[in-house]
Amino acid sequence: MAETFDVAILGAGPAGASAAIFIARAGKRVVFFDSGQSVTRRALIHNHYAAPSIEGPKMVDIGKQQAQDAGAQLVETKITNIEKQQDGFVLSGENGETYQARYVIFATGLWTDLAEKIGLVTKPATEPRIKTVIEVDAQGRTNIPGIWAAGTVAGVSVHTIITAGDGARVAVNLLTEMNGERWVDHDILPKEG
Ligand SMILES: Cc1cc2nc3c(=O)[nH]c(=O)nc-3n(C[C@H](O)[C@H](O)[C@H](O)COP(=O)(O)OP(=O)(O)OC[C@H]3O[C@@H](n4cnc5c(N)ncnc54)[C@H](O)[C@@H]3O)c2cc1C
Repeated sequence: MAETFDVAILGAGPAGASAAIFIARAGKRVVFFDSGQSVTRRALIHNHYAAPSIEGPKMVDIGKQQAQDAGAQLVETKITNIEKQQDGFVLSGENGETYQARYVIFATGLWTDLAEKIGLVTKPATEPRIKTVIEVDAQGRTNIPGIWAAGTVAGVSVHTIITAGDGARVAVNLLTEMNGERWVDHDILPKEG
């Protein structure tokens, strides 16, 4: 029997893991998948706000762990197919397992092959060294209701602070739709003394 989640996220790079952190902290059942091809692993990052200098592999690993510590379930497999079902989607993994989710977020970086296979509208990219992106509206919705996209694959500037930020932005927009009111995730510093 396939495990059921509120949200399934494809990609555990800056965009995907950032979205997973927000959605897990909102108390939703969230699974995020990764096929181990993050281009962020090739980066040496000196321009990420408040992280003066960090190696890409370390950033990706910290992000994955932070999302899991928040309650998100990480599955290291490639999602090879997504089928619409009555109240959501069935996702098939290269690991032979299937997963059910009400909503799906594509945070697949350079990869649009699965998006095109399942009928998501894509378009030529405008960012340097990027070929194709998924067409999204201002909130991050794609042409298939219930499927959203964030980060490089959604056409934003390819920098970790921006892709991680876009993952968080799209997660807040999705949580707002799920909850029917604008979502805010703030923690307050305890007063001294
Ligand atoms: C050489 C290089 C240097 C860079 N230097 C900098 C820099 O100095 N500063 C900076 O800000 N940015 C830099 N960048 C850009 C930055 O690292 C990333 O490009 C950006 O943050 C991408 O984030 P993302 O989450 O959109 O994609 P990615 O980090 O690529 O993550 C996408 C993930 O989705 C997974 N995936 C794809 N399809 C599937 C599927 N079907 N099922 C499961 N998983 C899937 C992939 O395995 C991958 O892990 C650099 C990039 C490169 C290539």
